[in-house]
Amino acid sequence: AKRAGRNQLCLFDKRLAEAAHDSLLLDGALRQALARQEFSLVYQPILLAEAGALCKVEALIRWHSSSLGWVTPDRFIPVAEESGLIVPLGRWVLQEACRQLAQWRQDYPAASGLRMSVNVAAWQLADADFVADVQAALSANGLLPEALELELTERTLIAEDPTIERNLTVLRQQGVKVALDDFGTGFSSLSYLSRIPLDTLKMDRSFIAELETSRRCRDLALHIIAMGRSLGLQLVAEGVETAGQAETLTSFGCHLLQGYHLSRPLPPAELAERYFR
Ligand code: C2E
Ligand code: CA
Ligand code: CA
Ligand code: CA
Repeated sequence: AKRAGRNQLCLFDKRLAEAAHDSLLLDGALRQALARQEFSLVYQPILLAEAGALCKVEALIRWHSSSLGWVTPDRFIPVAEESGLIVPLGRWVLQEACRQLAQWRQDYPAASGLRMSVNVAAWQLADADFVADVQAALSANGLLPEALELELTERTLIAEDPTIERNLTVLRQQGVKVALDDFGTGFSSLSYLSRIPLDTLKMDRSFIAELETSRRCRDLALHIIAMGRSLGLQLVAEGVETAGQAETLTSFGCHLLQGYHLSRPLPPAELAERYFR
């Protein structure tokens, strides 16, 4: 038993070492990636549940590294957060997403009411320059604050940094929308609902996936939607993969749907082709 224990420990050490090596490797490549313009954004449609019209898009980052090939955000975002590189990277995302929104609005009348949702990390929000960065990205592209929504997760808010709440309050007063992302996966979701000024609640896809197989998930989804609506929040269901899920969520009163059933995240030209032409 002792030997088995030791072997397991070795395996664990090895995994840890591999993870550390992976993050070192990524960290090195990430540091050069911005200057080398290796990042791009894709945009996932978020549609009105009832009418099916395009309401907003979520900007999602993609990285093609010259040395590592495609690397998914789930792998490199945590590394960028660790090193603080997420601040300049997040600033780039914000600027590029605003530039793209303005471009679509200029090129297509059908894009005139479109909104942009951007994911922001705790480090960005806690940055003293964040409010100025957001204002600059908006005004450089002639956008009103209402055109932009910031998506935060509970993990972001756990930092409990007073700067975060101050920045959010200021931006929201100016008209920028705030969404709580991955709702229902954290430990203290409900306390954030009372503490943080919010416009939108994005229900995590773990609920949605089991909507039709688990009575519990169904009941939870129903009650989250009812609670969110009574708080005056806009409800978005993430990870909608089937027509059945879309139907159920719509009948529960969910305002907006996002997921592969509606559309995968798309490069800008493809999105314009499908929705604005
Ligand atoms: P997220 O903010 O929860 O974004 C939704 C993720 O779910 C995206 O993965 C999207 O492609 C995926 N998805 C959408 N519809 C479906 C579906 O129907 N089924 C399934 N299984 N997945 C679906 P992606 O693009 O790989 O991004 C992963 C995470 O990386 C994001 O989760 C977000 O936390 C982070 N991320 C992505 N872009 C950025 C960024 O620009 N800044 C920051 N800070 N984080 C980002
Ligand atoms: Ca998100
Ligand atoms: Ca999410
Ligand atoms: Ca997520």
